[in-house]
Amino acid sequence: MKKFLLILLLAFLCVSAQPLWAIDTGKLLTNECRANLKMLNKATEKFVAENDSGLPAWSTYKSVRDMLLEIKYLPKDPVPPTKDCRYFLVSLSTDDFQWYCNLHGTLEGDKTITFNYHEHKIMAKTNSRYLVIDKYKDHTRDLLRWTEYSPTLTEKIKYNYNKNPTTTMVLVIFGVLVIIFIYKNVF
Ligand SMILES: [Zn+2]
Repeated sequence: MKKFLLILLLAFLCVSAQPLWAIDTGKLLTNECRANLKMLNKATEKFVAENDSGLPAWSTYKSVRDMLLEIKYLPKDPVPPTKDCRYFLVSLSTDDFQWYCNLHGTLEGDKTITFNYHEHKIMAKTNSRYLVIDKYKDHTRDLLRWTEYSPTLTEKIKYNYNKNPTTTMVLVIFGVLVIIFIYKNVF
């Protein structure tokens, strides 16, 4: 009985210490992507301040990089944290533009959506100001489609493990103890 109480106490301690080990992988990816968007917005701001040229209403990262953003504005390419992170520029004028990620949306927006992206919980923002631009409108529609994404069983287990590592481990240990108990007492 004493042993059982000790195990119960240990399990309780492990579960309460959980936040120390939990990793919010979705948040990490979102933060990495938002840092890229920030870098792209900054580089474009600098370009606009030093040049008379206007900005395209919509453009892919590659063409903006080739046509406008020289090395001095953007010393290094952003490294996309997921294979679905791709960058586009949307602009209404030279003082009203933003970069957006295919998956994470804009840095600043008036709507926040969260959804499951494989085993990660992702946060994205959309900005209704740019909805007048057709390509941006298509992007927000595609982004909302992710809210219907249903993770596979493995992705769900991975997500739960990252979120509650010790609970998952404690459950496994308890399972093993129960099996040992049954084995010792029944056979
Ligand atoms: Zn992204």
